[in-house]
Order: sequence, then structure tokens, then C-alpha cells
Amino acid sequence: MGGHRSAEDIAGELKRSGARLARGSVYNSVAALRSAGLVMAADTGPGRTLYEASDMWHHHFVCRVCGSVTDVECVTGEKPCLEAEIPSARTEEAQVIFRGVCPSCTEDSRGVATRRPTPGARR
Ligand SMILES: [Zn+2]
Ligand SMILES: [Zn+2]
Repeated sequence: MGGHRSAEDIAGELKRSGARLARGSVYNSVAALRSAGLVMAADTGPGRTLYEASDMWHHHFVCRVCGSVTDVECVTGEKPCLEAEIPSARTEEAQVIFRGVCPSCTEDSRGVATRRPTPGARR
């Protein structure tokens, strides 16, 4: 599928392609792939975790207007790029979520003062 997908997206796509897989199995598979380092999880909003096939450690920019998720290069490119200042704690990874307005929504707001959400749009 590519890109950033929720477990619901993956379950939906499997259903469309005719695969019979319980939702719980999708979550378990994603969790296994994640612990094997083959899938990366991005916590991009309230209750929304998106997964993607990972090849390079990176961060995410989430647009607060349209909800789009854009990859942001990590300055060090390896984990952890930040250390938690907790005595005796060993930081394994630090994921940064940047929030703001994406380029296309910035463009939109120049011409139109208010942007109404499209009826029925999910993201
Ligand atoms: Zn946007
Ligand atoms: Zn990403």
C-alpha cells in the first residue's frame, strides 16, 4: 500500500482484496513487524497510530488543517536522536511529531480566508 496507514486502513484493504483476516490478527501482525524493525509507527494524532514500511528512521510533520502526514528527515538518521533527561534511563528511540500547516494548506489560506472542511471528507 505504501505511505502511512492505520491498522483500520490495512484491515480494510485486506478485506477488499478478499483476504479473510480478523482485525486482531492485523494488529498482531503489525506489532510483530514493528518489533522486528520492519515497520515504523507514527503517533500522529489523538488515537491515531499510522504504520509504514520503514527503511530509514525519520520523523513526521502533521498538518492540523488537512491531516496529511509528511516525512521529516532525522538530523542524525539513527535512534535515539534525543535523550530523555531521566537519570539511569536508557532512551531507545525519540520520535518527534511536528505540527503545523502543510504547504498546500498554506497556499489555500492565502486566497481564501476560511477553509471549510469538505463534507464527508475523512482526512
Ligand atoms: Zn494540509
Ligand atoms: Zn513516515
